[in-house]
Amino acid sequence: MERYDVLVVGSGPGGSAAARKCRDGGLKTLLIDKQKLPRRKACSGIIANKSQNYVLENFGPIPESVYGKPFISRGMAFYFPSVGTIFTDVDCYNLYVWRSKFDHFLAQASGADLEDETRFVGLKEKGEEIEATLERNKTLIQVAVKYLIGADGANSHVIRSFAPEVYEGLPWASAIQKYYEGKIDADDRYLYWFLVRGMGPFPWLNLKDDQIIIGCAYPVGEKFGPKLESLIEFLKKNFGLTIKSELATEGCMANTMTPLNRFFPGRGRVLMVGDAMGLMHQGGEGISCALASGGFAGEAVLQGIRQGADALSLYKKSVRPEMETSLDQFNPLRMRSTVASDTSRQPGMFHGRGFGDKMKALRDALVFVKSEFQIEGMTRSVLKNSARRLLLGGYHIPAADK
Ligand SMILES: Cc1cc2nc3c(=O)[nH]c(=O)nc-3n(C[C@H](O)[C@H](O)[C@H](O)COP(=O)(O)OP(=O)(O)OC[C@H]3O[C@@H](n4cnc5c(N)ncnc54)[C@H](O)[C@@H]3O)c2cc1C
Repeated sequence: MERYDVLVVGSGPGGSAAARKCRDGGLKTLLIDKQKLPRRKACSGIIANKSQNYVLENFGPIPESVYGKPFISRGMAFYFPSVGTIFTDVDCYNLYVWRSKFDHFLAQASGADLEDETRFVGLKEKGEEIEATLERNKTLIQVAVKYLIGADGANSHVIRSFAPEVYEGLPWASAIQKYYEGKIDADDRYLYWFLVRGMGPFPWLNLKDDQIIIGCAYPVGEKFGPKLESLIEFLKKNFGLTIKSELATEGCMANTMTPLNRFFPGRGRVLMVGDAMGLMHQGGEGISCALASGGFAGEAVLQGIRQGADALSLYKKSVRPEMETSLDQFNPLRMRSTVASDTSRQPGMFHGRGFGDKMKALRDALVFVKSEFQIEGMTRSVLKNSARRLLLGGYHIPAADK
């Protein structure tokens, strides 16, 4: 049986950041991905300021070949049915990348032993060791490791096989995005979010390398077809969309661990990071917290192995601020000041608009939220967390505090 110090499952930003820290510390590290690399990932590919800083500091400059045009995303464009599109800018450069290339760059630059088309199947805890079962070319392989870092995304097989209770009763959403060749009257420097009923909680549009990217999110169990059709009809009518051909489709599942304050940093010698541990920011931004948590997990494992420290306790402590920021991102009072790209010098969203427009936009937003955000327990959880932060000065995070 092959032996490693650490097995990292999943070569997205979280897994690569973890692998890099382990390798920098001299640990024998295996980084696996079930897909053939480079792989696509349903994502807008907007690299927030915090993510850029992390990559520059830990991996070096992002190669130019990774970028999509127009290179820089200026911010978000919110569409309100009664007032039209409102553009909101960030104070920095948000880079536009193709996730296939960006993630592959990180995985290779991690320096770990990288194996693609290698799927994590399950694990057995054996004293101070973990015996992990992997599948490659339809063959099962066993590896023995001291620690396992689970970075396998929002629908984590590490969690499903090792701690299935984490997902008990958890509501799920799906996201789908399609790439088209065609024409549309929209500004390619912005990610559009349409606050229009009947198209799910997050109907979006962006453009990259002249490809029109249209997507929507929806609760698992609902059909995406009618929502996507409505969105396309809406864009034809309001943004002059014409489609010449369909180029690609991407989809994935999204958990609701952040708004429900149900993070899972791990158990025993298994540490979870990124989407898999439940970190997410507003609008679905998740690369910044995947990188940060991956780095913290790698550092904790290093101390666990080198100094005999309790890696999970160290990790819970270091990653707690990332959980707090994620909760902030669902807290209306904290959201704006904690985004991963600075917006502090920008005027308010409705700056320069009359009182009438502000009231109409507010009404549109309330109607939209009431109609599209029906995740069980979410409103209660968000209100509870926000009230606690306001009145007691901090969040209670069961995953870190118990
Ligand atoms: C539609 C959409 C748009 C988004 N846009 C943005 C954006 O513009 N900017 C941003 O910052 N964030 C965005 N996000 C969020 C971002 O994509 C995630 O937060 C980020 O990818 C999380 O990184 P991760 O490393 O935790 O997981 P992932 O990037 O999901 O990586 C997980 C990896 O694990 C692998 N894997 C899964 N199961 C196994 C297994 N059993 N064995 C081996 N490998 C396995 C997968 O193949 C995958 O490569 C978006 C998300 C969605 C859904």
